[in-house]
Amino acid sequence: MHSMTHHYHIQVKGIVQGVGFRPFVYNVAVSHNLCGSVSNDTEGVTIHLEGPDEAIKQCVDIIRNNPPPLAQIIDIKITKLPPNGFKSFTILQSNTTGTRDVFIPPDVAICHECLEDFFDVHNRRYHYPFTTCTHCGPRFSIIDDIPYDRDNTAMKPFSMCPQCYEEYTNPHNRRFHTQPNACPQCGPHIVLCDSSGKVIQSQFDAIISQLQTILKHHIVALKSVGGYHLACDATNDHCVNLLRMRKGRPFKPFAIMVSSLQFLETFCLVTQKEKELLLSKERPIVLLKLQKDIVSPYVAPGLTYIGVMLPYTPFQHMLFSSNDESIYVMTSANISDEPIIYNDDDAFERLGTIADYFVTYNRQILSHTDDSVVYVVDEKPYFVRRSRGYVPAPIFIKETPLHILATGGDLKNSFALARNNVAIVSQFLGDLATPWGNDLYRKTIAHFCKIFDVKPKLIAHDMHPNYFTTMFAQEQTTLQTVAVQHHHAHIASVCQEHSIEEPVIGIAYDGTGYGTDHTLWGSELLIADTKEFIRAAHFDYFGLPGGEHAIKDPWKIGLSLLMTSSVDDSTFFTQKQEKEFVKEIVYKTINCPATCSIGRLFDGVAAILGVAHHISTEAEAAMLLEEKALEAIKDTTVFEVPIKQEQTLVIDTAHIIQEIVNMIELHVPVAAIAMRFHRAIAEVTITTACKLREHYSINKVALSGGVFHNRILLHLITTGLAKKSFDVYTPHKLPCNDGGIALGQIAIARENIHV
Ligand code: ZN
Ligand code: ZN
Ligand code: FE
Repeated sequence: MHSMTHHYHIQVKGIVQGVGFRPFVYNVAVSHNLCGSVSNDTEGVTIHLEGPDEAIKQCVDIIRNNPPPLAQIIDIKITKLPPNGFKSFTILQSNTTGTRDVFIPPDVAICHECLEDFFDVHNRRYHYPFTTCTHCGPRFSIIDDIPYDRDNTAMKPFSMCPQCYEEYTNPHNRRFHTQPNACPQCGPHIVLCDSSGKVIQSQFDAIISQLQTILKHHIVALKSVGGYHLACDATNDHCVNLLRMRKGRPFKPFAIMVSSLQFLETFCLVTQKEKELLLSKERPIVLLKLQKDIVSPYVAPGLTYIGVMLPYTPFQHMLFSSNDESIYVMTSANISDEPIIYNDDDAFERLGTIADYFVTYNRQILSHTDDSVVYVVDEKPYFVRRSRGYVPAPIFIKETPLHILATGGDLKNSFALARNNVAIVSQFLGDLATPWGNDLYRKTIAHFCKIFDVKPKLIAHDMHPNYFTTMFAQEQTTLQTVAVQHHHAHIASVCQEHSIEEPVIGIAYDGTGYGTDHTLWGSELLIADTKEFIRAAHFDYFGLPGGEHAIKDPWKIGLSLLMTSSVDDSTFFTQKQEKEFVKEIVYKTINCPATCSIGRLFDGVAAILGVAHHISTEAEAAMLLEEKALEAIKDTTVFEVPIKQEQTLVIDTAHIIQEIVNMIELHVPVAAIAMRFHRAIAEVTITTACKLREHYSINKVALSGGVFHNRILLHLITTGLAKKSFDVYTPHKLPCNDGGIALGQIAIARENIHV
């Protein structure tokens, strides 16, 4: 049958440049015998297809559903045009005038084909650690400016050799327009140095074999994709302890890297979803249940979940070449909770006392990223930290009339930018408590505004008056500012992620956040949309001796909880010399602000149960309490927690403490008490949500806040709510901790614009 020739103009928006999109379209079109053209433009990629309708339809389906690995399509617009009489299909030169609306891909793991090149003795890239192609390797970390051309990347100092140039300019080559394209003749190189920076080896194979020996007994700083790692043998107690001592980090778990999934499964339980994440091109750290004590107990002291990742660079693959059962600690090189160190001068200056050796290379990292961290509950993925592999992928939002900057929070910071219907949430910036961290924060915001071509007119920040991020916002005196309540931002972020516009019951279980009444909130059940909220319920208040610094002294919180609950505290914390002093400040409420934070409640209960002793990092006590509860996961006893009707619903915190003390007196095992505490919190949460549903006729529930890193609680509350027929929404694109609030700030600012 004769088929009519038609001509369509197809506009593709999204991450479609620098990802091999044009050659891909070329191949699809040619294989369907279609004529026309493909070109890049400022909005993405423009395609002309001419031929039979059916073939064009198939072609568009492939473009839509099977784009190249790094592509992310936001929108495809198809317009019918009069026939043009194309004779063939061609790739056209770029047209780069006008406003830019393209995106930057994240850094991803080396692809299979490049890995084959890397391990192929006959390939010219054999054992060349910067082997990459259009489908893999660094992007975000090496981009200095837009447009994304080689001269605007960290590859600028390296001019391509004739062979690389041929690949780069050949549309049929996998390395067509691969900006980091390089080979041993023309690209960057790795060196091994001592701690003073003196080069001791520069031949790649020799570096690897020396390193394999060095890593048995020493700590090595390794320059990776988004910054430096600190690495050592994870099975060597002495090394891991030494790293802890030198870093001044007694508890916070280290991540490990192993060669393969197969080996990993010999000592960790790995579910299907966890496998997918481990093997994904984003290659995050996945928190997995340890099954066998094979790594040093100092890797994750007291915890049965451990952070694991698989190699994602050629260099990392090589590290396992002599022994694929090696296990390395691979942790971000940073000082306390600061951002990761990523430039070479900082590395040698600041890590010289921690690392015995350095592996570095002569290409700059322009944007730092830590390894992303995810965990899986009920086969759903959740972020602890969103960074390498995911940032700066866009999140699509409701159209904003103004460019917005949201400054995030001071802990686990990520900020966000928004323009039109896109928000870009920054990488994890860590805690902004030091001048170095503050400086990096300013620089990163400026860099993001440049590479995404955003000129903020509106700036959203947390309501906390003492946050650095608040002060930063107030410095921008020419911009309109919006102060956003912390827990409203947590919930709005989930609503934005799921495009929910109507009010939800928002459950924000958190550390502390500044409340509209100037107290420290943190157990909020809100009726909220992305514009406004009502505080509908919360846990009862207790004193936080020493204010927000009490994070590091859970026993003080425990003592305060006992006092608030009118429980005899004489048998608790007897060994603490400051006990009387703390009692006095709680009693007189001097430097003892009131809080209803559920994160601090967990800390205090952990202390009362004697689970957490020496605390070095936020949430450590809570993590140990969860671990304790896991030991009694089958204990289904639950106690009821009264809910008082005041101006809002108030959950009776004192009753919880009284129940716990009763169980201690009855010699109930600590693990069982810990588990019953989790169950009681979940139970009273569900009951409260039911009361709110009855009152407000809302069936959608959104959960957020750092406390939901607690797997037991997350599981009990999400499944419990689902059983009561609630529609439950949780954050999956962003962390539920403060790394996710910037998106909520964006949404709230947008809804509150007064023009
Ligand atoms: Zn590749
Ligand atoms: Zn070359
Ligand atoms: Fe928070």
